[in-house]
Amino acid sequence: MPEPGSDLSYEVVGLRPVTPVIVELTLRPRSAALRYTAGQYVLLSDVAGRLPQRSYSIANAPRADGLITILVTRVEGGVLTTWLHERLRPGDEVALEGPYGTFVPVTDRPLLLLAGGSGLAPMRAIAEASLAERPKRPVTLFFSARTARDVIDRRLFADWQRSHETFRYLLTLTREDGAPLRGRIPDLLQGAVGSAAEHEVFIAGSEPFVADCLKAVRSLGADGAQVHTEPFFCEPQPWLSQPGDQPGS
Ligand SMILES: Cc1cc2nc3c(=O)[nH]c(=O)nc-3n(C[C@H](O)[C@H](O)[C@H](O)COP(=O)(O)OP(=O)(O)OC[C@H]3O[C@@H](n4cnc5c(N)ncnc54)[C@H](O)[C@@H]3O)c2cc1C
Repeated sequence: MPEPGSDLSYEVVGLRPVTPVIVELTLRPRSAALRYTAGQYVLLSDVAGRLPQRSYSIANAPRADGLITILVTRVEGGVLTTWLHERLRPGDEVALEGPYGTFVPVTDRPLLLLAGGSGLAPMRAIAEASLAERPKRPVTLFFSARTARDVIDRRLFADWQRSHETFRYLLTLTREDGAPLRGRIPDLLQGAVGSAAEHEVFIAGSEPFVADCLKAVRSLGADGAQVHTEPFFCEPQPWLSQPGDQPGS
């Protein structure tokens, strides 16, 4: 059984664009599989170790076959995301290290999950695990996208809402009409959920999104100790193994 932090080899068995800028990778362990808790993340890189490791939240609850999914937003000029979006193909191998992170539920409180863009990844895992393991715990997932083309898994979450009376899915678009809601989560939260005082709250996405949602849940009475945040910040790192090497070459 692999120790946390071990380096593991995974094969790309699925590569699916889910929005114009986000691709979903499905990865199958070549031998040992990561043992993780829904909400945690892994460090991913190429097996040759020529590219930098970057953090990606696992987007599904743990499965018996070890399959994991991740959602990768393309970053303009980004070293690893350019490689993942442009070079990687089904059958290729990637190196994973982990799991890491404490972005995991620790109470029995109702869950309030606020996500923007690929910040949906850990929320999908947490919601899936909660509905399977603690079906009576209420879960509210509030997802924000710019336009209808940026919405991920709308049908899946509508299905979960139909099949689980404890699951509530809220969707807002910030730049066009077409969803039940229009606007930013921080501005809509009070009308949508009222108080946040009784919830265990999770917020993931870009740094500004996380900061704004954090302010909003605090103003709605969230207990600071019950609020978990996962800003998808980036720390640029040296990635060249040799002078003159090109990313992904
Ligand atoms: C705990 C954690 C979990 C994460 N989970 C995910 C996830 O599930 N999905 C996901 O897509 N990303 C996630 N990230 C972000 C991811 O780790 C990388 O930072 C991102 O994919 C960019 O890597 P890169 O090598 O392509 O960009 P780099 O080459 O490192 O950066 C290139 C340029 O883009 C800027 N930049 C980098 N990232 C961003 C960004 N997110 N927004 C705006 N500008 C940026 C940098 O400042 C730099 O100027 C997570 C980050 C953390 C810390």
